[in-house]
Amino acid sequence: MSELSDLAQLIQRCPDCRLCETRTQAVPGEGPEDARIMFIGEAPGFNEDKQGRPFVGAAGKFLEQLLGVAGLKREDVFIGNVLKCRPPNNRDPMPDEIEACRKWLDRQIELIRPEVIVTLGRFSMGRFIPGASISRIHGDPRVIDGVTVVPMFHPAAALHQERYRSLIVEDFKKLPEILRGAQERKAAAAAPPSPEEPPAVAAEQGRLF
Ligand code: URA
Repeated sequence: MSELSDLAQLIQRCPDCRLCETRTQAVPGEGPEDARIMFIGEAPGFNEDKQGRPFVGAAGKFLEQLLGVAGLKREDVFIGNVLKCRPPNNRDPMPDEIEACRKWLDRQIELIRPEVIVTLGRFSMGRFIPGASISRIHGDPRVIDGVTVVPMFHPAAALHQERYRSLIVEDFKKLPEILRGAQERKAAAAAPPSPEEPPAVAAEQGRLF
């Protein structure tokens, strides 16, 4: 058993907010422990709550098409949510529910150590980039705590509103390049300092610090 699946078992038994009283089952998320990219949605809906798996309804079908646009396969990426349990009637997550659930996603990110996190929708974006406007920053990557975070519209929004569809498709087309950049950044951060560093630079640094 991997640490990620041990964690999923804890999530399935979580009693830490009111949503545990109305859920059919919690939806921890799924994907390989060494996934390079994580997609984080809002919360399970009707189908997810019944099946215990993320993005299995109409929005999930569209997400799979979008992954194809980016040259990715569902089984190679981690897919999860900010909330692990369905809010009744798919209402918006409440701030105290997001807070109670925070530890689970934090730990999943710690275990997976992705190069890129794609946030789907404003609640997921708000978890990483509080106060931002998704209409302004969708598709623009930024590095937060060493991870490249890319805010995107929620696939369900694009299903219901045609004008978002082309925007989200264009954003997904950028992902291969964003992944390449994130991989290079991670490799550079992990590399030992160059032994060829000229003495002048070293001396300069010595003066500065
Ligand atoms: N919408 C989400 O945000 N997450 C799911 O898992 C399904 C639909």
